[in-house]
Amino acid sequence: MKHSNISIFVPHAGCPFQCAFCNQHTITSQTNLPHAEDVVRICSQAMQEISEKSQAEIAFFGGSFTAIPEQYMLELLKSAQPFIGKDKFHGIRISTRPDCITPEILEILKKYHVTAIELGAQSMSDKVLQANHRGHSAKDVFQSSAMIREYGFELGLQVMKGLYRSTIDDESTTLNAVCEIHPDTVRIYPVVILKGTKLAELYQSGEYVPMSFDDMVKMVASDMRIYMDEEIQIIKVGLHASEFVEADKIGGYYHPAFRELCESEIYQLRMESAVMALQWELHGFRRQTVWTEDRVFAVNPHCISKAVGQKKANIRYFYETYGIRVKIVGDETVKHFDVKIIS
Ligand code: SF4
Repeated sequence: MKHSNISIFVPHAGCPFQCAFCNQHTITSQTNLPHAEDVVRICSQAMQEISEKSQAEIAFFGGSFTAIPEQYMLELLKSAQPFIGKDKFHGIRISTRPDCITPEILEILKKYHVTAIELGAQSMSDKVLQANHRGHSAKDVFQSSAMIREYGFELGLQVMKGLYRSTIDDESTTLNAVCEIHPDTVRIYPVVILKGTKLAELYQSGEYVPMSFDDMVKMVASDMRIYMDEEIQIIKVGLHASEFVEADKIGGYYHPAFRELCESEIYQLRMESAVMALQWELHGFRRQTVWTEDRVFAVNPHCISKAVGQKKANIRYFYETYGIRVKIVGDETVKHFDVKIIS
């Protein structure tokens, strides 16, 4: 069954932090703060529309939920209560900063049926966190994650890829630390540089030089493969397509279908590895004998377009790189992201 979120955006107006990638002014000037009546209206409507209610959560997203004034946080939590329980929604999902988790806060969240907490870890390198003015450390992420687990919540981590001063080693540090914490879910956000941010200044002055878009797709695809192997559920890759991002982005890695690009990259690597394995089995290192043959691959029928790639990118890649023609067919017995060589 498919999980769904009833998303309620809670902008963090007046946030005391100044993360290098965040444009608070744009966020707060474009969105009003929701109140109890808004929560009731949104949830009542969702009760009518969602059939698999036990698979749905009321999600307070958009800011640092546990850092907003306590009275306001309680107003939102209390107003959601009549919509949770038997034949209603499963619970509440929130996102917050790693340094805004305490036992007292977790007690409140537990009391009001919060089931999942997502932490904006962003990076697990202290150097990168400092350079991007995050105001918390990697240790905060480890400690808060442990506390969230201890209290029995589902844990999610959000990471940003390609932040200012983040080297390949820093990216690996983050990946390894996330795997060590082993959250239930992860969201991967390649950096988008927004107008009016510190990152924009650094980018325009030439101080911040992001890696190429294609290299970012390869890096995120590689992370995704590792998270999949670790059985960490990837619930989001790339920012939501929105007018806000479209209007304010001046650089970075925005694409309305970023996840699909990465998934196609994974298929390309898997097809390449399958042919390499076959080549090894048949001919040892005599590469040419195999790569000159056209190939037919089977993938799960739901994944044919990912395997083919946007605008047939993978088909073109194999032709341009090895001179072979690749055909992709569907086969129900092949698992998602597996590939089988048919001929
Ligand atoms: S991203 Fe940083 S600056 Fe922006 S609202 Fe969150 S904590 Fe505040």
